[in-house]
Amino acid sequence: MKRSLESRSRLLKRLPPFEEVLRGSVVRRLLRCGKPGCRCATGEGHPAVYLSVTLAGGRSEQISLPASLVRRAEQGVANYHAWWEAIEKVSAINRELLRLERQAVGSRRGEQRGRQGDEPRTGPARRRRRGMA
Ligand SMILES: [Zn+2]
Repeated sequence: MKRSLESRSRLLKRLPPFEEVLRGSVVRRLLRCGKPGCRCATGEGHPAVYLSVTLAGGRSEQISLPASLVRRAEQGVANYHAWWEAIEKVSAINRELLRLERQAVGSRRGEQRGRQGDEPRTGPARRRRRGMA
């Protein structure tokens, strides 16, 4: 239990600033501008970088990024993933803690009543009855 608490606080210390999360992906493309006679019409397209993000309802939004903002956007996207990973890991730790605490409650009751095993059935039912009174 102590080890779970420690790794949970270690995870939180390593997280990037929450205000710098950015959902989406940074996409690089070569685009043709469409101007007749431009070198891109026959040769390589113009490099373009943008942030692409899918929104609710399946719509998506693109924000083109000048070179000076590419790194910030990439960092934001990395921060977003770091937070999600941490949420999943902390959630797994909290499930484990919940299991341990449930066991502790179960064995304490078991000692009083001299048996174990029917806690999941009697626990919630008792609580529900009290709630209705
Ligand atoms: Zn062009």
